[in-house]
Parts: sequence; C-alpha cells; structure tokens
Amino acid sequence: MNIFDAHCDVLLKLFEDKTIDFKDSPRLQANFDGMQKSGVKLQCFAIYVPSELEEDRLFDAAEEMATIFHQKIVGENEGIVHVKTREDIARLKDNEMGAMLTLEGCDCIGSDIEKLKTLLGYGISSVGLTWNWANAVADGAKEPQGRGLTPFGKEVVELLNETKTWCDVSHLSERGFWDVIELADYPMASHSNSHTHCRHPRNLKDDQIRALIRRDSVMGLTFVPYFLNESGEAGISDILRHLDHVCSLGAEDHVGFGSDFDGIEKTVDRLSSAYEYSNLVNELQKHYSEIQVENFLFKNMEKRLPK
Ligand SMILES: [Zn+2]
Repeated sequence: MNIFDAHCDVLLKLFEDKTIDFKDSPRLQANFDGMQKSGVKLQCFAIYVPSELEEDRLFDAAEEMATIFHQKIVGENEGIVHVKTREDIARLKDNEMGAMLTLEGCDCIGSDIEKLKTLLGYGISSVGLTWNWANAVADGAKEPQGRGLTPFGKEVVELLNETKTWCDVSHLSERGFWDVIELADYPMASHSNSHTHCRHPRNLKDDQIRALIRRDSVMGLTFVPYFLNESGEAGISDILRHLDHVCSLGAEDHVGFGSDFDGIEKTVDRLSSAYEYSNLVNELQKHYSEIQVENFLFKNMEKRLPK
C-alpha cells in the first residue's frame, strides 16, 4: 500500500548530528529502510530551523538543511528521487520513493522575500508560514495575540500562488488560517488533528476543516500523541477516532497523514517509527474499504498537489 507522508523532521536530526546515516540509522524514527519496508512512496522532508538559533544564523541553517536534503537524502541513496509535481510522482519506478522538500515556518527569511525566493530555488513544494510563535509573516498557533497575516505575509502568500506552492496552515494562528483561506490558491494542513477530539491549539476546529474541504484542500492527521489525546498517551485507535470525525465532516476525500516522525519524542503506541506503519494500515483496513484506505494513505494528498 503506497503511503504519502506529508511531514517529518528527519532533516533537523541530520542537521543536528552529522553522524546519523539516513539509510538505516536506529536513531531516526523515519529512516530510508523503514520507509521502503512500509511502502512510503512519498515523504515530505521539512526544513525546520530550531528557534533557539541566533537570528542571523537562521537563513544559513535553512540553506544548510536544503543542502543536506540534496546531498544526504536524494544524493547518496539509490532509489530515492526528488519530486516536485504529480508528473514526477507518476514517473517513479516501482522500487523508487519520492522525496519532497518543504519549509516549516518562515522565521528564517525575516521580512526578506528574496530569501524565500532563494529557498524556493532549492525545489521546495510547500511552505508553512509559521511555527508556534510570531514571525514577520503571521502569528503561530501558540502566540497569545493570535494575529493574522501581516502585509509581508500577504506578499509571501502571493509568491506561493505565483509559484504554485502549497501554503501550509499547520502551526498557524486561527486568524492567520482564515486569511490564508481567503488569499491562498493552494492551502493545505500538513500535520494537524481535530480540535473537537483533542483541544490543543495546534489542532483544527470543525469550521476550519470544513473550510479546507470547501477549498478542495487536504489535511494530514499527525501522530503526535498530545494532539491525539489530551492525556498525552495515544494509540492507533485515537488516530482512527480523529479520522472518523473528519470524515463525518465530509473530509473523506480530503484527509491524509503527516507523521511528524523525528519531530516527536513520545510516539503513538505501536506506531513508534516508519517501520510500524503497517500497524496503522491494518487498522484502517479493518474499518474502511480498500479504496478509502488508498485515498487516505496516498491519493488524497497526491491529488491536491498544486502542480
Ligand atoms: Zn510541526
């Protein structure tokens, strides 16, 4: 079963520890071997620049992570190919996996649109506007003021429209979300769950999910335990609970997955790494038809790629 995983933080781990080998390191929740064995056909690799870095280091770090993507993810490994479009995905051979480069948060560009253009030049397919806090583009989900897009943020969204790039609303404030729904041609949420089923500011409320459906967009449910269950302990049944709920809102053709592997320490029970994807697939197959499962795991995401 082909899997499209809309978010992982493998690049952050490779950036922080140059000795980790993407191929099969046990220090990665999502290494190449695990992805291949589980049928991950498309993996998004996020550039997430740690917020603790000095401000004048942020952009260099983002460029370094893009270089790690090109050298260590797609450069050194046979059978993994940088993809940017649906056509690129269709061209993948049976034994090949596609890798997409994404940006998680625009903190690293400050208020310089040229820096975003430079990063897009590395072949980025999706841009998340914020992480959890405020930046020059908008406020993040945990920023108490919760402001929407700034004038510079609107310029960023225009550039994403022009370049047919996904505008990722995961991590964005609620007001920012509604601004994006109004202005972005290609909104999506890479790794967020249902707020109705777990009241966390990173999750999406029902009217936000309905808005994504109206915009013919897609959301990726994520395996972060404390976005699945307020107790912070989660099992695969919690993922299914969120899936059932978003489907009841009409998202059956608008929902996929964004694991957040390597961005989390605590994991979902029986889903601690890419090797264990099959446990999720088996549970899905018990509750949904083969076509529905194919759509959740791959096609709903693939269909919504901007190009
Ligand atoms: Zn994230």
